[in-house]
Amino acid sequence: MKPNKFFLSRTIKMVIQKDVQLKPFNTFGIEAFANYFVEVSSVEELKNILSNPDLAPMQKLILGGGSNMLLTQDFQGLVIKMNIKGISIIKEDNEHVWVRAGAGVVWHEFVCFCVENQYAGVENLSLIPGTVGAAPMQNIGAYGVEIKDTFDSLECLEIASGNIQAFDNITCRFGYRESIFKHEAKNRYIILNVTFRLNKKHQLQTAYGAIQETLTTMGISEPSIKDVSNAVIAIRQSKLPNPAEIGNAGSFFKNPEISKKQFEGLKNHYPTIPSYPIDEDTVKVPAGWLIEQAGWKGSRFGNVGVHAKQALVLVNYGGGKGNEIKELSQKIQASIQEKFGILLSAEVNFI
Ligand SMILES: Cc1cc2nc3c(=O)[nH]c(=O)nc-3n(C[C@H](O)[C@H](O)[C@H](O)COP(=O)(O)OP(=O)(O)OC[C@H]3O[C@@H](n4cnc5c(N)ncnc54)[C@H](O)[C@@H]3O)c2cc1C
Repeated sequence: MKPNKFFLSRTIKMVIQKDVQLKPFNTFGIEAFANYFVEVSSVEELKNILSNPDLAPMQKLILGGGSNMLLTQDFQGLVIKMNIKGISIIKEDNEHVWVRAGAGVVWHEFVCFCVENQYAGVENLSLIPGTVGAAPMQNIGAYGVEIKDTFDSLECLEIASGNIQAFDNITCRFGYRESIFKHEAKNRYIILNVTFRLNKKHQLQTAYGAIQETLTTMGISEPSIKDVSNAVIAIRQSKLPNPAEIGNAGSFFKNPEISKKQFEGLKNHYPTIPSYPIDEDTVKVPAGWLIEQAGWKGSRFGNVGVHAKQALVLVNYGGGKGNEIKELSQKIQASIQEKFGILLSAEVNFI
């Protein structure tokens, strides 16, 4: 029998594993195998992998917390699990502090660091699953805040050249759940660390969703950064299915942005359709509302389905296949297109 583990380098003790089950590494809990798998804890280790003649030609999948991906097949190549840790203060002035975190830092741990130190700006993003390194990929956002609001810069390694490059807020081309890393730069870079510019003075955002209401229920009239974080945590825990209990990747689709003209036409047919203004000509419509109206909420097909309380969340009840969830998502897309003339696009990355 062949060994299913080998050392790439005896000096830095990096273990390459063969035929690794990825079920524990994705929040959908999908079973899929990776030909090869390695956990990387430093830039030096990453460079060793990329320059290794056996590993360099392999297809690569960069893995954070696996909370925004749908594995539709076994991965024929090398999975690189980002485990580069560390949070440090780069510089500060009277108003701001620049904090750098390694790509493998758990996002919520980074938020907790900021909250504990009274650095404002990411408290509304409390409890989003995943890693710091994946956060810029889709400009993670929640409760009226996106990381682009506090993002300063990131360092990444270009896979083809092994060179380290920096991207700032402009060159990342952030948009709603978008960045350059989902388009022109897709699969070209490995994000190593991200630097955020946080506020020393409180600039709390409590207007969005149920934050203010929750703070009132908590009996808080002058909230601290920690209070806002606690309110967001409470709301998320009450609303979102926990992946540890039921496999999911949060919102499966993005909220579509449509023209005001199309929206007015829809409003004639569906007077209760909700919307959020984007600019003079465009509005955003909640995808969850559309999916619910089309009758999908709570529907189940074997081991996969649409969550009973959150129509935007597709779930794996256990033993579901990535392709079953993909097919379900395509059926939902087709039905929303037919009923409302709106094409939903996936937020989740298909692998
Ligand atoms: C219950 C639940 C709630 C959620 N709520 C929200 C929410 O409120 N807002 C929101 O925006 N998202 C939300 N998400 C989605 C998800 O948490 C975020 O997108 C998160 O940033 C994904 O991080 P990850 O480390 O798990 O990424 P992964 O799923 O591991 O990877 C996602 C993508 O990024 C790539 N990638 C990962 N790390 C790196 C790196 N270091 N360098 C280059 N590429 C990399 C991967 O190859 C993949 O293409 C939710 C998910 C769940 C399960």
